Amino acid sequence: MKIYEAAELLRKNKISPPELAKEVLGKIAEKEKDVKAYITICDDILEKAREAERNKNDSLLWGIPVAVKDNICTKGLRTTAASRMLEEFVPPYDATVVKRLKEEGAIIIGKTNMDEFGMGSDSKQSAFQMTVNPVNYAYVPGGSSGGSGAAVKSGMALGALGTDTGGSVRQPASFCGVYALKPTWSLVSRFGLIAFSSSLDCIGPMANSVKDLAIMTDAIAGWDKKDATSSKREKEEYYKNLTPSVKGLRIGVPKPFLVEADESIRKAVIKAAEKLKEMGAEVSECEIPSAKYAVSAYYIISSSEASGNLARYDGVKYGYRAKEYDDYTDMCIKSRSEAFGSEVKRRIILGTYALSRGGELYRRAVGARELIKRDFEKLFEKYDVILTPTSPCVVPKVNAVSEIEKKYEKDVCTASVSLAGLPAVNVPFDKDENGMPIGLQLVGNRFTEQMLLNAALSFEEGGCGDV
Ligand code: GLN
Repeated sequence: MKIYEAAELLRKNKISPPELAKEVLGKIAEKEKDVKAYITICDDILEKAREAERNKNDSLLWGIPVAVKDNICTKGLRTTAASRMLEEFVPPYDATVVKRLKEEGAIIIGKTNMDEFGMGSDSKQSAFQMTVNPVNYAYVPGGSSGGSGAAVKSGMALGALGTDTGGSVRQPASFCGVYALKPTWSLVSRFGLIAFSSSLDCIGPMANSVKDLAIMTDAIAGWDKKDATSSKREKEEYYKNLTPSVKGLRIGVPKPFLVEADESIRKAVIKAAEKLKEMGAEVSECEIPSAKYAVSAYYIISSSEASGNLARYDGVKYGYRAKEYDDYTDMCIKSRSEAFGSEVKRRIILGTYALSRGGELYRRAVGARELIKRDFEKLFEKYDVILTPTSPCVVPKVNAVSEIEKKYEKDVCTASVSLAGLPAVNVPFDKDENGMPIGLQLVGNRFTEQMLLNAALSFEEGGCGDV
């Protein structure tokens, strides 16, 4: 069920919050044993639904069951970032996004599985469990917000929060066949988000329709005094101003993202370009010369920031502490060695290396990031929207193994957008040869979320999205 449809039923008293919560609990009873989308499921869902029933408000999120990725702090509810390091961490406060969802009357169902600290693209890097794709259990749900994508696709939540550093709400949405918005960096407060790479991290909604994305973004976006980097722009009303429109939009399709894409992905983008033309948009091919640096720059910058952000896990303040040790240094080494998974260690080592010897490697990556930003700025002088595949590759099977560099390269379409801090939407568009979803990425200039949502709505109303 979609959020806006459920909201309508709730408003007209055709269903009550506890009844809706029971529907979702039914789905969880049916599917969660196979899908494994959640690390923690709340045990007081019905109580919260009854409480919501007593405190009716006029928000479209009132009584709506939503899921939250497990790297977003929830007061009194275990928040692990899918790491042994935080296996027993219970935050004493809510992240701003969670606080805002609760104020609207949404009901938190549980905390979703992910790649440890957000590092990965298949949700297989979780310390606890492996989530599978609800469309076909033989395939991965994508990552790092794979649990959120799977929960939404299988009806175990009506919407979910994910986090995106280099593609982690867009790519799992693409793999699971749901919608997602990665907002402009700074639009949504990061207070209470367990940091991976602060200059890239964004919290964004995942849902079964564009309207639902707009409803969730309305709730979570906006300045927050607890996040000094959050934007002070006046709050927009995305849901209210939602109108399907692509007519007259100038859309650029960058060639570099197509040449290395799988055949079925390339075909889907070409088909989408044709569809956009039919709907009245102007579509043409374009270049983005710096795209070739995006993956290296992304991994160097994000790993450098991660090496700093994760230095706080020293076994002293909170998180895992080794049982036996000689002195402080030994405790620190043992705690980190025992509690971080291999991908997290790889990133810390890569980041530490990039920052060593005066940080030469890091500085060059920052230079490449500037080129990417400038390339996008130039593109937006000519175009309103940039259309790319969300992932250049079809959804991989659960048991597929791939070399690490190859895995990283698949982030090219999303990571370049993250480096430039731009907003982007994933729209489910087609199916590949295995029947798995293919998603499109629509990218806009900073703070053009409304235009992107409007364009995505045209696609949805034009019959896409049922994949
Ligand atoms: N796949 C990318 C990575 O592994 C993106 C992760 C993310 O956006 N959190 O870093």
